Amino acid sequence: MVAAALGRPRIGVLSIQGAFAEHARVLERVGAEPVDVRAPGDLAGIDAIVLPGGESTTLGLVAEESGLLDALRRRLADGLPALGTCAGMIVLARAVTEGAQPLLGGMDIVVRRNAFGRQRHSFEAPVAVSGLDGAEAGAPVDAVFIRAPWIEESGTGVEILARHGGHGVAARQGDLMVTAFHPELSGEHRFHEWLVARARVCRERGDERRERHVGAQ
Ligand code: GLN
Repeated sequence: MVAAALGRPRIGVLSIQGAFAEHARVLERVGAEPVDVRAPGDLAGIDAIVLPGGESTTLGLVAEESGLLDALRRRLADGLPALGTCAGMIVLARAVTEGAQPLLGGMDIVVRRNAFGRQRHSFEAPVAVSGLDGAEAGAPVDAVFIRAPWIEESGTGVEILARHGGHGVAARQGDLMVTAFHPELSGEHRFHEWLVARARVCRERGDERRERHVGAQ
């Protein structure tokens, strides 16, 4: 193992709008260093990224204007691990069911915005999520839904990790994980722990690549 891999992973948090401060707090609690991401230059040196909830149209438009959307697309294509919650899940989707808005894409899902919205704009429910590690791996997530989307369609590479009312509300595709709810608002740390673990693996991989490169010179 290389020395750099032992340090705290640097996890970017898209900090344009929405619930970004709460994510930074959870990341600190699970041993990572949160890094505010507002412009393309902020992506340098991060090992993973959190795309928080908020308003996905605003997030997409602002990030598109600064060139951040394009820069982030390149990092994701290069294997940057990401956790997208609520609006962050929408931004990571390849499409939304209605209308057009700037998206990062990256995940082979189609998402319905405000799907749980109309009658009950906000609610909390226990949701069983598969594939989470940790001591409390089996415990359901106390899921906070705020004008939440659901996953309408998913490709074969996507694993649906949780359903609510029959609809996909958490999923994983390789190093990308999404939730329709807000884990950062209910003291839930397992999603962030997963991201930090993936960030460590990717950082070690990157360090090894660099060492091989230097060795070959
Ligand atoms: N309804 C919002 C959207 O479509 C998402 C809500 C949230 O992130 N809490 O962007």
